[in-house]
Amino acid sequence: MKAVGYESFAYMVECRDHTYYCGWTNSLEHRIAQHNAGKGAKYTRSREPVRLVYFERYLTKHDAMSREWHLKQLMHKEKRQLADNACALLMAAGFPVSRKYDRPAAFGQSIPALIPDNWVPGSEFVRVNVQDGPQADVAIAWFARGNGWLLGLLESALYPVVGLRDGELYYLAPSPAAFISNPDTYIEMGMRLPGAGMPKGAEPEEKMDKQWMESLKRIRHDCAEMDMYRRAAAINSFDLETICPPKGMEELGEVNAFLDTQAFRIRQTPEFVEALRNVYPHLQELDEVDRVLIRSLNRAYLHEKHMTPEMKHEFALIYNRAYINWERAKKASDFCLFRDSLAEVLSAEQKKIAIREHEADEQDLDPYDQMLGDYERGMNSRQLDACFEACKARLIPLLRRIQASKKQIRTDFLSRPVTDEAQRRLTEYLLDTIGFDRERGMYTLTEHPFTMDAGRNNVRITTHFYPNNFTSSLYSVMHEGGHALFALLDRPEHYEGFITGERTLGMDESVSRFYENRIGRSRAFIHLIYPRVREILPDVMRDVTEEELYEAVNLCRASLIRTDADEFTYTFHIIIRYEIEKELVSGSLTVDGIPARWREKYREYLGIEPETDREGALQDVHWSSGFGYFPTYALGNIYNAMYFNRMRQELDLDGCIMAGDFGTINGWMEANVFARADLESPLKWIEDICGRPFTPDDFLDYLEEKYTKLYEL
Ligand SMILES: [Zn+2]
Repeated sequence: MKAVGYESFAYMVECRDHTYYCGWTNSLEHRIAQHNAGKGAKYTRSREPVRLVYFERYLTKHDAMSREWHLKQLMHKEKRQLADNACALLMAAGFPVSRKYDRPAAFGQSIPALIPDNWVPGSEFVRVNVQDGPQADVAIAWFARGNGWLLGLLESALYPVVGLRDGELYYLAPSPAAFISNPDTYIEMGMRLPGAGMPKGAEPEEKMDKQWMESLKRIRHDCAEMDMYRRAAAINSFDLETICPPKGMEELGEVNAFLDTQAFRIRQTPEFVEALRNVYPHLQELDEVDRVLIRSLNRAYLHEKHMTPEMKHEFALIYNRAYINWERAKKASDFCLFRDSLAEVLSAEQKKIAIREHEADEQDLDPYDQMLGDYERGMNSRQLDACFEACKARLIPLLRRIQASKKQIRTDFLSRPVTDEAQRRLTEYLLDTIGFDRERGMYTLTEHPFTMDAGRNNVRITTHFYPNNFTSSLYSVMHEGGHALFALLDRPEHYEGFITGERTLGMDESVSRFYENRIGRSRAFIHLIYPRVREILPDVMRDVTEEELYEAVNLCRASLIRTDADEFTYTFHIIIRYEIEKELVSGSLTVDGIPARWREKYREYLGIEPETDREGALQDVHWSSGFGYFPTYALGNIYNAMYFNRMRQELDLDGCIMAGDFGTINGWMEANVFARADLESPLKWIEDICGRPFTPDDFLDYLEEKYTKLYEL
């Protein structure tokens, strides 16, 4: 029997390498056959055979496509759970499904089992809204009839199998196997889902409160307007950093100040604040993107609530002055010229914190943790202390051994002259290799490389060409290219929901450093690019082996300047800044004590110390606008070490790199790393990706293994 109308499907297949692919189709059987004939999606082409593990039927193509998108957002383990649940459900309903798919022979043979002839949609396949479940506020269950029971799957995947009896909905957790052996007993043991509705063959009317729905519309509308200002300001800032004529800079600065004020005004209008107040109590009824948006807007509102325009203006002047004085002090290499401004910044930051109001979960944070939280939501100094102590305990002794090693690493060729034209060719080769879409992104030159996200299809990066240091541009392109991939491969829906700004600096930096260090400095990547580098730079590379290039870009040498630091010593530059700013904010260190403390810590950790303030506490601009930024740089390395190990379990990473298959690598990043970055706090995000809590161990193991080998320790 064929059901009329329900002929669009969202589906999920499991590939040979146990990754999942989600799609939609009008004909499941045909589509699976296509995948297995190598004519399906690009992703499945190298991973056939695939087997169908999950599908849902829809009335319209549009609904199926929309569901496909949602399926794609699921984490790998959620996809696996969905597949397992579907399998359990079908078995429970008496359908002949084999759960043993590990034998390759079974691949692609499961379709008849998963679309049983006697499972038909319509009256027997209904959608129920389950309101106010213990964890899912509005969950949707899909039901099929089998063995006299109505059995279903909850979309939330929190409840593996649900059963319906006498109009009451039960969920069956945790083991579908127990249910299968004895459904009646097991259902009695299950807990009743509160507020479960009856399946009526149609969606129950959702009684939405008109007023707050209107308020939500208003907020979205205002956010769209603020986003226009943000994008325009981003393009202006990019212009200021790159091509703006010197005399035009002040005017353009005024334009940007105007755009900022316009956005601030919108956020401050009584109508906007009122709308936020209306929607906030309905947080649990919103979809995930709106919920993230509203929480974020509310957090910002609470922080700024008691900030008067006069105070805002006064703070802006303090930070401006601090920037100018920092520049002047750095030029003169005299910390005294910066100290008054730095003291002003410190007191402004403390004032800002003091007048904040908070959401319940941020109530008891001490001032430094609040500053940190502005950059890395939910991270605190207790976590960081433990993490950095572990880094020091393992890396300082290792650094001493590296410093005492007799190993000679050849670096002479790194300073051989390279023309701009050759560096341009190298840059474009690298960007094309990693999959940077030059139709949606562009690059140009600046002294300090950066990435600017000026729109969904408008991501810009910069690099610099130093005639006697070509690897500087090579790795800045890999780094900024990584930031750009994150922006370009972020979810369109997150962009349209105005929440892409929710991903933290640490998350962003984890990605840029993943491409720069974990990919770019790997042996496999050097193997991939060596022939092209030789071709583009024949004079530089004439007598350099692949191994020599690998060693040179992984040289470990303690240095004074953070931005020049190698992968190994970089973390110390961050730990030092973190420890000093934490002491400063807590009051145990005075502003005047900074230069001496700086020297002391460089000596202790790296065995070197700066002779001038320019090479010391004045090298970075960050403190002229506040504290809590630096740790995010180190967190990036620690996060990516964790997900790198996860990725390596699922992909033949070295194989992909050597084959230049960045489609697979970026696809994994998109599905696992990017997908939920805008939605979760970093600690939850990394735990979800890796299935275990935040730890520096992966990062430390990696450095130890790599450098022990490199320096023959
Ligand atoms: Zn970066």
